[in-house]
Amino acid sequence: MSNQYPEKIVYDLPGFLEITAGEFITKLEEQVASLPELIDIKMNNKITQLDKEDDLFVARSDSSTIVAKSVILAMGNGSFVPIKLELENEEDYTNINYFVQKTSDYVGKDVVVLGGGDSAIDWAMMLEPLAKSVTLVHRRDQFRAKLSSVEKLKQSKVNIITSFIPKELKGDKNNLQSIIIESVKDQSSQELFCDELIVSYGTISSINYLQEWGLDVINKKVEIDLQSKTHIDGIFAAGDVTTYQGREIQIVLGLAEGMQASASENQYLHKGIKQRPIR
Ligand SMILES: Cc1cc2nc3c(=O)[nH]c(=O)nc-3n(C[C@H](O)[C@H](O)[C@H](O)COP(=O)(O)OP(=O)(O)OC[C@H]3O[C@@H](n4cnc5c(N)ncnc54)[C@H](O)[C@@H]3O)c2cc1C
Repeated sequence: MSNQYPEKIVYDLPGFLEITAGEFITKLEEQVASLPELIDIKMNNKITQLDKEDDLFVARSDSSTIVAKSVILAMGNGSFVPIKLELENEEDYTNINYFVQKTSDYVGKDVVVLGGGDSAIDWAMMLEPLAKSVTLVHRRDQFRAKLSSVEKLKQSKVNIITSFIPKELKGDKNNLQSIIIESVKDQSSQELFCDELIVSYGTISSINYLQEWGLDVINKKVEIDLQSKTHIDGIFAAGDVTTYQGREIQIVLGLAEGMQASASENQYLHKGIKQRPIR
């Protein structure tokens, strides 16, 4: 969250009318830091190997080996890369963005956003009061975002173009100046001039370890039960790394699964005796 959308306002966290993703992460960090006797944090450790050796789990990264009696997986989508446009010279232009890091970079500018999901609409709506103009281009005529967001979008000043796909990028050295879009219905084209282009086509997850670690994986996610247990005794999971029927991608759901995983882990470690995990 703090990497991908630190300034995005999140409206669906209980207890907060609105809060930026970055502020929320800071609050979580403060909470974790208040429990130094319980939580030992190892930063910059990408776990690439997880083995069971006798009764213990051994997690390995490039720089360390961690031995534990149990494991909670909370890796989200793993390390991920944004889906690119795959158009000529895309890599050359420094004003093509795949995440919005600082909204101040867009003040007074002509911004084009490509995409039709929640993130694309959220960015368009957030930048609309700051930018000179915001144009949202989506390849379908229906958005696949929350209905309430789509309604707000339609009432905003965002210029909405549907059923068009990007065809060509035009610019000068490192500066993209315009994008040619083409109608999927009649192949007519339009040129959109822009100071900043945001490509919001989602990300490709690079999680390929889960299967190697012997977990039950469906669409690159680990299947869990109502107790946040994976099918391997002693391994639990929470957050976007998990799957079950109807699971939504929501922060609050990941937090609840984290609580459940930690309660189940406690029972596992204390042989079925229920204990309150923390405080
Ligand atoms: C643009 C955007 C907007 C969103 N807006 C909202 C919103 O408004 N409201 C809402 O409820 N949800 C929103 N979401 C969804 C929300 O961000 C996720 O549901 C939530 O972040 C999932 O949390 P997580 O801890 O499971 O995964 P993540 O937040 O992805 O965290 C996983 C962490 O694990 C680390 N990691 C990965 N692999 C390894 C490894 N092998 N070893 C060690 N560490 C590893 C990663 O670096 C990362 O720090 C949004 C998502 C996006 C992309």
